Amino acid sequence: MPGSTLETPILIVGGGPVGLALACDLGLRGTSCLLIEQGEGLPDHPRATALNSRSMEFMRRWGIADAVHAAGTPDDFPHTALYCTSFTGYEIARIERPAHGGREPIKQSPERPQRCNQLFLDPLLTKLARSLDHVELRHRHCLESISEGADHVIATVHDRANDQRLRIAASYLIDCSGGRSVIRPALGIEMSGSPYVGYFLSIFVRAPQLWKHHAMGKAALVTFVDARGLWRNLISLDGRELYRLGVTGKPYYDAPDQVDAESFFREAVGKDVPHEILSIRRWLARNVVADRYRHDRIFLAGDAAHLNHPAAGLGLNTGLGDAVDLGWKLSATLAGWGGARLLDSYEPERRPVGIRNIGHADISHSSERQQPTHPEIAMDTAAGADARRRMGEDLMRIQTRRVITDGLALGYQYTPSPIVCDDGTAPHSSSTVEYRPTTFPGSRAPHAWLADGRSTLDLFGNGFTLLRLGVGAPQPLTMERAFAQRGVPLSSISIVDPPIATLYERRLVLVRPDGHVAWRGDEEPADSLAVVDHVRGAESSLHRR
Ligand SMILES: Cc1cc2nc3c(=O)[nH]c(=O)nc-3n(C[C@H](O)[C@H](O)[C@H](O)COP(=O)(O)OP(=O)(O)OC[C@H]3O[C@@H](n4cnc5c(N)ncnc54)[C@H](O)[C@@H]3O)c2cc1C
Repeated sequence: MPGSTLETPILIVGGGPVGLALACDLGLRGTSCLLIEQGEGLPDHPRATALNSRSMEFMRRWGIADAVHAAGTPDDFPHTALYCTSFTGYEIARIERPAHGGREPIKQSPERPQRCNQLFLDPLLTKLARSLDHVELRHRHCLESISEGADHVIATVHDRANDQRLRIAASYLIDCSGGRSVIRPALGIEMSGSPYVGYFLSIFVRAPQLWKHHAMGKAALVTFVDARGLWRNLISLDGRELYRLGVTGKPYYDAPDQVDAESFFREAVGKDVPHEILSIRRWLARNVVADRYRHDRIFLAGDAAHLNHPAAGLGLNTGLGDAVDLGWKLSATLAGWGGARLLDSYEPERRPVGIRNIGHADISHSSERQQPTHPEIAMDTAAGADARRRMGEDLMRIQTRRVITDGLALGYQYTPSPIVCDDGTAPHSSSTVEYRPTTFPGSRAPHAWLADGRSTLDLFGNGFTLLRLGVGAPQPLTMERAFAQRGVPLSSISIVDPPIATLYERRLVLVRPDGHVAWRGDEEPADSLAVVDHVRGAESSLHRR
């Protein structure tokens, strides 16, 4: 292979939203990385739309939350999940999500869930990544193979623009190349999980102000029900004119060219309305998680590590969480203050979240598949009305926890984790639907508004943050000295506001650069150096206990 070898500390393979998010997180931390993407970097068909509050908190930290709000669904567009026979037929159930969308403050987060399809999100992440000095993006570069040395990984890459092969040597390689990763199989890493395989068609449609043509009103997710059950849905992508019509069924998947997309759309709406079919793609859904997230210097993130049916809207949101967990750990390791065990904590922290989220997607989607069918569901008869009532009750009971997952979004905890200090208390867990704030070690540190209008979450991100809470909080002098001694960046901040002190449960709370609680106590620890070493992933006496 002619030409020299390019060198980079971190090679990110795949410029989907997870690879881009990781590049942004690293770049904002001043850590150099190179991202290669086989395509042009412009999504041409819609995939993920629903960003949960946690993902929006990441956007906020990266400084693009306002841009995501502006590019996404308008604030007044309801995040309603509607079930009906067609837009001109019968309504069966309606799940409102008043805490989603809009800009009114909510209690649990400074950011409400926002709908912003990848068609709009990916360009925003690309723009941010391009603006960062430490990030290099190379499109039309396809990874072909990898080989591993003692202290580096070598990637062989096809530069499609110039039809040349090049070698890239990286200290770490992050596989963000999605569900069709060539890296994961090359490493012999299997995916395990549910045997479920779903066959789908995704029809991208433009239909300006569709809600003006029917009486059901605006809704973000519409599931159409007929005698066959729930096999078609319409997702609003921009709250204006763009939709994704999803159709389930192997025959459609096997022969997409023979599908009459026009008829599908007309049946869903119930009449002819102005529209344009923009593109049709087929896709396979599975609910699986990689058996390992790491192989020496190679890490898997996003769809390369876990795949799920998108019914619960968790794929991209889970992947963004992977990127955020990896970002500060890679930066700290390369900066020298991250200990030898820091990167080891990625898999035990993130794989359980992947397993839990993919498990939820599997349960919630199987409940939809197993929904009993009613041949008379669309009939204008007493039996039809009765079938709609019964199905409506079932859907409200079962589907609410599919479409409202605020507890999953904000309540995930890294416990047990090799770099979180267990304080011997019992976990304080959220349900799927409802988030319960807590500083239980490993949890996302809770949000509260500060007197100056910032969120507590705005205090976190650069290095560790040690919060002193309440009027009598101790001066953490030995902890501050221990962080300085180990060269670990620390901000020590006092918050006297009594409600925030109560919310935070302890007088001292140590928060990691990703916003998760690393340690808490009412007094300084007996051995501050041991705590610092534990949370930075270095060998410590706490690890030996
Ligand atoms: C119809 C549908 C709807 C969805 N809705 C939601 C939702 O509402 N909410 C949600 O959270 N998730 C949703 N998802 C899931 C979401 O789209 C994915 O989880 C997300 O795109 C994963 O991002 P990623 O960056 O990990 O992978 P991808 O988006 O797949 O990106 C991988 C990138 O890697 C590139 N690549 C692959 N191989 C190579 C190589 N060898 N060399 C270089 N580049 C390579 C690819 O070109 C691609 O750009 C949905 C998915 C589908 C299919």
